[in-house]
Amino acid sequence: MGTDKIIQLPHSITVRDLAAMLNASAVQVIKILMNNGVMASINQTIDFDTSAVVATELGFEPELEKEEELVEELGELPLWRRLILGESPEDLENRPPVVTILGHVDHGKTSLLDAIRHTDVAGGEEGGITQHIGAYQVTHKNRPITFLDTPGHAAFSSMRARGAQGADIVVLVVAADDGVQPQTREAANHAKAAQVPIIVALNKMDKADANPDFVKRQLADIGLVPDEWNGDTFVVPVSAKTKKGLEDLLETINLVADNIMIKANPKGRTIGTVVEASLDKTTGPMATLLVQNGTLKVGDIVVAGEAYGKLKALMDQYHKRVPKAYPSSPVRVMGLNTMPEAGDLFQVVANEKEARNIVAERKAARELKQHSKRSTLEELFSKVKSGETKELRLILKADVQGSLEPIQNELELLNKKQKDITVNVLHAETGNISESDVMLAAASDAVILGFDVDMDQGARKVAEVEGVSIRLYKIIYRLLEDVEKALKGLLEPELVEKTIGKANVIAIFKVSKGGTAAGCRIVSGEIRRNALVHLIRNNVSVFDGEVYSIHREKEEVRDVREGMECGITLKGFEAFQVGDVIECYVMEKFGG
Ligand code: GDP
Repeated sequence: MGTDKIIQLPHSITVRDLAAMLNASAVQVIKILMNNGVMASINQTIDFDTSAVVATELGFEPELEKEEELVEELGELPLWRRLILGESPEDLENRPPVVTILGHVDHGKTSLLDAIRHTDVAGGEEGGITQHIGAYQVTHKNRPITFLDTPGHAAFSSMRARGAQGADIVVLVVAADDGVQPQTREAANHAKAAQVPIIVALNKMDKADANPDFVKRQLADIGLVPDEWNGDTFVVPVSAKTKKGLEDLLETINLVADNIMIKANPKGRTIGTVVEASLDKTTGPMATLLVQNGTLKVGDIVVAGEAYGKLKALMDQYHKRVPKAYPSSPVRVMGLNTMPEAGDLFQVVANEKEARNIVAERKAARELKQHSKRSTLEELFSKVKSGETKELRLILKADVQGSLEPIQNELELLNKKQKDITVNVLHAETGNISESDVMLAAASDAVILGFDVDMDQGARKVAEVEGVSIRLYKIIYRLLEDVEKALKGLLEPELVEKTIGKANVIAIFKVSKGGTAAGCRIVSGEIRRNALVHLIRNNVSVFDGEVYSIHREKEEVRDVREGMECGITLKGFEAFQVGDVIECYVMEKFGG
């Protein structure tokens, strides 16, 4: 065998990356894996022994990659993987897939959900699923499938944005007579971003002008290459109207579910997502919870967002009382003290005291934010209108005297133009925004405007705690424009940095591909993959960028919390020094 066929493979690799390394298609690799009894999806990570089998079948001579430290590309973990991170593999059991339906308006999402709901025979004697609780389960060939009943990617993404990702599989509805439309593309992108596999339901096949071949070409163009063309996407022709193809669709869902091996530990900690909540006149707050790990029982004490309570009753989709709900089951619960919000995560806690403490902390954190909220530029106008304020107080910081003066002069002019409100510059100075500037702003309810300056680390922190609004500019007229807009009430909300965690760099080591990782201890909060960071050295930010990866032991993780040790790599930065601080932050609307 020629040495040119020797290939170095890492300890673990995703199917996608393996295919690329072996110059094969992902489908080819998946087929070889299947022939060897391994069901793997394109994003799944397989170990060296498994990838070596594939490489050998494709005529390579695999070797284990030699390296000091291994950094693998896992991709962002789907929520259910994160929820079961602490569970031992031997406790994990298969659970039903949770499916959400996305697609362009009028392509038949609601009709399809209704049609699928009517395939349910389990509830036959009760007259089928009559209760709309935000999610329902149907059974195909003795295997349950859970559907989220609120179609549309707005719901899907708002759940995702809140850290809750209910769905394991997306069914993308495309009308065969209308083809790929803007929301089809958007929905596909949302699903791809969430790394959730997509099945296309080619709907309205009963229509005379249905043109499936044309639509398949359109799908291929947006990266959803149909399976029959050797692609990765199953395209199932259906009609929500005549009900034709529904069985095939359910069959395909089960097939894809098998491939991604959706698991949970029914005996593990009970956690999941709030699907919807409503207020019932007689029973009080009701919420539909989707159990994602563990088992939910009557009598459990649950915290969901800022709601908590001892569950008095669980009800299934037939409005029947049930004692328990297992992973992937949607269940209507009674007993929460108030309504949680759709998309909130819920968890079972040990006792009411713990529940009350968690909720009190959450409330306090939210209220503190609201109360400490001082004048931001965009809020000013409403205060002026309500007569609360007659003055816009500013603190100006600029790089040099030469820029400070023109700004002050322009603000004077603005003052003369404006009758019902005055612009009052409390403090104008050259230099970076300091902690004392922020304290002044906090004490006098002023807004800080910086021109071509930076913020000291201390200042950033105090601003966050005190809720002081700081805006930084590089162009003078933009600064003036914003002040003028604020006076007229036209300003868009600003985004501010909120520190979510800090890590001390305690060691430095090389990783594969020649990169450098920082061995870190998390000293406060949490560090998340892909989050924004400042690399602080001697109190000065020497690099602003993003977290690229976080490893604990050899495992890539999505986030790490206070007290943990881990390896961190940043995008575009390797020159770590022991003693550096990695400060992780998010941008959020002022006042949250
Ligand atoms: P949504 O906006 O995606 O939820 O779409 P709807 O389910 O409300 O359907 C939009 C329209 O298409 C309605 O008038 C439905 O009756 C019709 N429709 C949905 N599915 C089919 C189908 O399979 N065949 C035909 N002929 N019409 C359908």
